[in-house]
Amino acid sequence: MNWKTFKVFLRSLRLPVIALLGGLLVSAFALDDPEPAKPAAANQEARGEQPQIRDGISQLREENAKLREENAQLRKENQQLRRLLAEKVEGNVTSTTVTNSVSSVQTNQAITEAEGQLTHWFTTSSGKRHNNRCRYFKTTEGRLCSPDEGKPCKLCGG
Ligand SMILES: [Zn+2]
Repeated sequence: MNWKTFKVFLRSLRLPVIALLGGLLVSAFALDDPEPAKPAAANQEARGEQPQIRDGISQLREENAKLREENAQLRKENQQLRRLLAEKVEGNVTSTTVTNSVSSVQTNQAITEAEGQLTHWFTTSSGKRHNNRCRYFKTTEGRLCSPDEGKPCKLCGG
């Protein structure tokens, strides 16, 4: 191969070389741009994972629904308990108030009765009743008594 034929050869090669270079450039650009290919692959992976994710989501939704139901039930129970507690407390308060008033009335009556009983002195030996101005009042053996108990003392009138 002499120089002339080589030149011709080169000239004949020029187009394919340019084409080759162009192709290389294009492929280089294509290689330089691999980023969009990766998300596509990732998308494919994601597509593979999607059923699992969907299952997971549906499971979570089911659990959420269950929890909501439970929550609603708990709220109902809570309301019922509060109502019961309120009724119980009210009942207790009412009954306590009633008991208190009854007991206070009883206490008052007892005090009144006791006061009535404590106004006179009953001498056990004679069975006579003395008022608090009598000299036998609390000086003899006996006990405090009501104004209508026993026989009235002749000295003080009972
Ligand atoms: Zn007397």
